Amino acid sequence: MKILLNKTSLTKSLGHFSDIGFVPTMGSIHKGHLSLIGKSNQICHKTVVSIFVNPKQFNNKKDLKTYPKNIKKDLKLLNQTRKVDFVYIPKFNDIFENNKKPKIKLNKKDKILCAKFRDNHFEGVIDVMDRLTNIVKPTKIFMGNKDFQQLFLVKKFLKKKYNTDVVGCKTIRDKNKIALSSRNYLLSKTNLDLASNIVRKLNNVKKNIKNKKNKNKYLLTVKDNFQKQFKIKIEYLELRDINNLKLSNVIKTSRLFVAYYLNGIRLIDNL
Ligand code: AMP
Repeated sequence: MKILLNKTSLTKSLGHFSDIGFVPTMGSIHKGHLSLIGKSNQICHKTVVSIFVNPKQFNNKKDLKTYPKNIKKDLKLLNQTRKVDFVYIPKFNDIFENNKKPKIKLNKKDKILCAKFRDNHFEGVIDVMDRLTNIVKPTKIFMGNKDFQQLFLVKKFLKKKYNTDVVGCKTIRDKNKIALSSRNYLLSKTNLDLASNIVRKLNNVKKNIKNKKNKNKYLLTVKDNFQKQFKIKIEYLELRDINNLKLSNVIKTSRLFVAYYLNGIRLIDNL
């Protein structure tokens, strides 16, 4: 596993290879990231993992400051997999050297779910993914379904500009059903128990919703009840079509999307 600290050394090292799988991450590596790496290793000749906490996608300064970082442990975990050929750990200027690119703007119809609550978040994500794709020039990019809206928007944007496949990969959960996330490292045991309880209850909601006539109207009531019962703030709880992310009343082609805060930590999931 070769560690690359800037794009000059990355370009030098990757220049010879044509079948590159890319797994972009913000570090604090967990089994969710490792599953993407496993997929890339299965399909592509070489696997590149990037670790870069992109300040442009944080709409909240405190969130950026407290975002968990542990590069030493990350490198150990990545090395142990024996599936990573290159780790790219750039500094801000290596990626944003040319900061003059046209500003990314989301369509009005895309300002839903997280985009509605996190100003400029996806603009920052798309910008960095554009730059990383330009630098790494991967054949395929592996991203998690856990961040479904991110996957949806990045796929849509990159398709217009690059000949790169964006592959959606399944969400990895812990034994208590909680979707793995770097932010989980910030949660106490009590909060993790609560998160587990919430996922289980949401799975039940998804089953029960079958008989409801107007499913999203019903979800507003569920949202209200959950907020009272668990004393949490829920930003959204919506059933949306996985093909276009429009509000939906058809379970088969939809997922239940949720974003909520536990002790100031924002968690998202989709079931
Ligand atoms: P992050 O480091 O949180 O920016 O995530 C990097 C990539 O890992 C993104 O494509 C995420 O969607 C993906 N990812 C994060 N958590 C999980 C998970 N629990 N299962 C599968 N993929 C995940």
